[in-house]
This record gives sequence, C-alpha cells and structure tokens, in this order.
Amino acid sequence: MSVIVEQLTKRFTTGGTPAVSDVSFHAPSAAITTLLGPSGAGKSTLLRLIAGLELPDSGSVRIEGVDCTHLPVQKRGIGVVFQSYALFKHMTVRQNIAFGLETRKQPRGEIEARVDEMLKLVQLEELGKRYPGQLSGGQRQRVAFARALAIRPKLLLLDEPFGALDSRVRIELREWLQSLHEQTGVTTLLVTHDQEEALEISQHVVVLSDGRVAQAGPPEEIYDRPATPFVASFVGGTSVLHGSVRSGRAEVGTLVVAAPQSAREGEAVQAFVRPHDIKIAKPAHGSNELTTGRVERLKSVGGYVKVLLKLPSGETVTVEVPRAEFDDLGVVEGDHVHADVRMAKVFLGDFAI
Ligand code: ADP
Ligand code: MG
Repeated sequence: MSVIVEQLTKRFTTGGTPAVSDVSFHAPSAAITTLLGPSGAGKSTLLRLIAGLELPDSGSVRIEGVDCTHLPVQKRGIGVVFQSYALFKHMTVRQNIAFGLETRKQPRGEIEARVDEMLKLVQLEELGKRYPGQLSGGQRQRVAFARALAIRPKLLLLDEPFGALDSRVRIELREWLQSLHEQTGVTTLLVTHDQEEALEISQHVVVLSDGRVAQAGPPEEIYDRPATPFVASFVGGTSVLHGSVRSGRAEVGTLVVAAPQSAREGEAVQAFVRPHDIKIAKPAHGSNELTTGRVERLKSVGGYVKVLLKLPSGETVTVEVPRAEFDDLGVVEGDHVHADVRMAKVFLGDFAI
C-alpha cells in the first residue's frame, strides 16, 4: 500500500463540477497501477494532485505512509514523465539526466556514475552527448524516464507517456516499460485512456469516469467482472444491446442471453457483448430458417476479421473472428447469419451510459 489517496476532491471553478470528486484508492507498493478513463475523466488532475502540482480542496495523499497532501513537489520523492517530452532542448542527454541530481547538489563523481547507470538502464549509452532535437520520439521519452528515475524516486508518475508516439513505437515502449519496471521495482502510477495498455501493463487498475472511481481491481477482474455499465462499455470494445426479460432470460433483439437472477418478467435490460464472445455461423444452404442478422461490413485487422452484424432491431454488434476461422466460414457482406453469444454482461434497467 504505497500510495493511499483518500476522498480527494478538486474543483477548478467555485460551485462547478469537480474535476476529481471524492476519489479514494490504494496503489500497491512496487507495482504498476494504471489510472484508466476517457478524456476529461480527471486522470491528469488526479496525477497532478498526487505529484503536488495542484492542491486539493479536500482529501489526502499518503506516499509510503507519509502524509504528502501539503508537501511541495520537490519534497515528495517522485519522478514524473509527461506525454510531451519536456526535456531541456539546450542540454545534452547527459545534462538532462543529471539535472535533478545537480539541483540536489550531489558530488560530481556520484552524478556522473548515476548518469552512466541511467543511460545503461534505458539503453542509450551511445547517445549521451546528443541534444533532444537529434533523437527520435521514442528515444526522447526514454531520456525522460532516465531523468525521472535518476533521483531514485519512491514513486514514478507517468501521464500518457507514449501518447504522442506512433503505434509501433508505443507497443515497443509498452514492453520496454514492463522490463524497466521489473529491473527498478519502483512503485508506478500510469495514466492512460488506452484500455489495452492498462490491461497489459499493470497489476492494478483504477477506472475513472467523470472525476470518480468507477471500479478498482486487478486487470482480470475489471475485464471479466465490470462493476458498472460504464466499465463494461469502456473496457473491451463492447457492443451495447437493448431488450427485456422473457421467461427468465434476456432477449436482446434476436439474441438471447442469461439474465441476472433478480430480473423480473418484462424488465428492461442492456446486454454488453464483447466482440470475441459471439460466434457466427452460416445457415444451411437453401434453408429459410430465421437468422440473427445481416453482415453489414467486413474489415480485416491483423490476425482477425471484424464483422459488423446488423440485427433486425437496427442495433449493430461487432464480432471478431480469427482469420483462419473466417476463411472456413465463407461469409460475405450482405449474408444473413446465425449468431450465438458465448457470454454477455447484462445490467437491468434502461439507462444512458
Ligand atoms: P483527463 O486527463 O482524464 O483527460 P483532466 O484531469 O485533464 O482529464 O481534466 C478533467 C476535467 O478538469 C476536465 O473537464 C478539464 O476541462 C478540467 N480541467 C483540467 N485542468 C483544468 C484547469 N487547469 N483549469 C480548469 N479546468 C481544468
Ligand atoms: Mg490527461
């Protein structure tokens, strides 16, 4: 329990909606915790409150058991990396990494040794004499990590650190960050709007929506047991379908799925269906049996094919079919197909997410 945030609230305008509203969570020691949520959810504000770059209206922040709520940034023992590189352009890579150590007035020899160690850690030994302008985006971000880690922080705060990079570099750095974390073991808080990044990198996920915690837990739990309709729709590329309870089951258009036990006959439901939890099949040739829907669009993405299925109700469902399986299916746009839902998360009621 290395970072403990309790009932943190921050408003930017008096009487306005808080950017961060009564937020409490624990970020376990030596783990990567992600703060996951859509744009405007309050992730950056929360991180800035923990860093001491903003002051809360109420609530507290404890780092390693020390109440830091009113401590200045420099006294919190944190390293920060933002989306924009924020390196000093007129300083070399070495000078950038040394910066925090110099402001702490460490002996020259120790600073040089630490900079060498950091360059090695981020695999940029050869580039110490370059200026930020002579580096790629990915390399600059690695320098930013080296600079943040040089001061031996108790806590590393990362605000969408790979957000400005192209997708190939982003995925490379995602793996790099995991191995960096294995080597340093520094407690890390990572802000991201990318649910795949959150589920892949972290041991603990805090999902934020409108300045509040929607759910917190290990990634598997967030994915498999979303606590609210918001989490169910935000995590997992989910389709949302409307329907009602008939004979103890949830009927959503032409699909039928299990309903919660407390469901009453006729009650409105919303089913959240993941793209890989639906199986489609072609009806037997020449048969006129009832099908689930019509294939509106096919799109091939990497190892699988995305099928956009339109139900008679007008609602659409996205289905992902592994490529080999898709080739066997022989489905083309315009075909009418059967669809079977392997698993869906059903919430009672008719509400907006
Ligand atoms: P996220 O990082 O999740 O996209 P932010 O924390 O940046 O969200 O913003 C949350 C809310 O707070 C937004 O509505 C945003 O407009 C508002 N906000 C953030 N910073 C400021 C600020 N300095 N002044 C006024 N409003 C702000
Ligand atoms: Mg942000």
